[in-house]
Amino acid sequence: MRPTGSRRAARKDDNDKPLAGRAEKNHGWLIVHMAPGQGFDWLALLPCGCKEIVEIKNPKQPPSARKLTDQELSLFEECVSRKITYRIIETEAQLDGIALSHAGHNYS
Ligand SMILES: [Zn+2]
Repeated sequence: MRPTGSRRAARKDDNDKPLAGRAEKNHGWLIVHMAPGQGFDWLALLPCGCKEIVEIKNPKQPPSARKLTDQELSLFEECVSRKITYRIIETEAQLDGIALSHAGHNYS
């Protein structure tokens, strides 16, 4: 089943669900899954009170298929211009590293 509209913007990558599960179970993140075409996959609400904008890419796909879509690129550039971090996560290790970077933040 192919969504109408843009090329492949609507499909979640196969590793999206396991990574979300890991983020919630291991790191206590609350994952808000964005609708297709919004320019990123997760708004992650962290237990420290921080938020992360996350785009999931699948490392099993060739680099050409992992490129940001037009909507993703547009939001990415908007974030860069505003000094907002836009995370691109492909692996568990990357996810864990981001979670670790929040260690020691206040729970308030
Ligand atoms: Zn934090």
